[in-house]
Amino acid sequence: MPSTFVDKVKRKTFIIRESGRSTDFISPSFGHGCLFDCSYCYMKRHKPYGLDVATNTNDILYEINSHAYFTVVDKPNQTHEQFTTYDISCNEDFGLHANKYHEWEKIFEFFKNHPVAMGSFATKFVNLKFLNYNPEGKIRIRFSLMSQFYADYLEPNTSSISKRILAIDKFIEAGYDVHINFSPVIVVNGWLDRYKALFEEVEANVTHKNKVKAEVIFLTHNENKHKYNLIHDKKGEHLLWNPSIQENKISQYGGINIRYKHVLKAQYIEQFKKLHKEIIPWNTIRYIF
Ligand code: SF4
Repeated sequence: MPSTFVDKVKRKTFIIRESGRSTDFISPSFGHGCLFDCSYCYMKRHKPYGLDVATNTNDILYEINSHAYFTVVDKPNQTHEQFTTYDISCNEDFGLHANKYHEWEKIFEFFKNHPVAMGSFATKFVNLKFLNYNPEGKIRIRFSLMSQFYADYLEPNTSSISKRILAIDKFIEAGYDVHINFSPVIVVNGWLDRYKALFEEVEANVTHKNKVKAEVIFLTHNENKHKYNLIHDKKGEHLLWNPSIQENKISQYGGINIRYKHVLKAQYIEQFKKLHKEIIPWNTIRYIF
């Protein structure tokens, strides 16, 4: 079955989930599924193929609007000093799908004009069409970054890492709030050297240093996804599956997730933070786990 089929659906449930990490809340899905195919994708465990696009954008915006007005959020917090933040792209890459499948200007306009709510999404695609629209700081794009060496295996067909880094200044100048999403952090031999080179490239190419914060999420893999990747000959499983430094964790949705061993992960986090602070100290880490 091709991974590119797209269905239009009328979204019937509008659950807004609490997050508190990348954003305060996760909005109902404008899209569910992804036309990229990253080897570590948690969403693909549940929907390996295709993309469902909600046809009722207005209904979703209506729900976000009501939620924003009736939900008290303690501000300032690490997601934003002032606005209640909503991740609009938890189950897709909104940046990739926007031009063809989403009423993105309507969605951006909603957030731009909303006195309480702000929209946010992580992406691995540099969508230059967005540069023609100024959201006046009410849309945060979180460019996902990892070493290009890892991305070549794990993130087929996405924008190159250099292109994503070069996009940071451009998007800030166009009126976007831009953060970096270091996710997933991959630990294999030589990983700190790879992150050193990545941080140096960020340092050399970002001018608006006082504006760009970061979130850092170490890899969580999954046993079923591991088997799926092997059966389907996905590239890069040797970077993801590393039992000598990983342990099982029963996920809240059932199934066995695999993460770096607790004690080791604490050391990795300290190593990451130290290196990050040496090279790009201006890039405040909002959270790391
Ligand atoms: S871009 Fe995100 S949603 Fe799409 S396949 Fe990659 S990890 Fe999954």
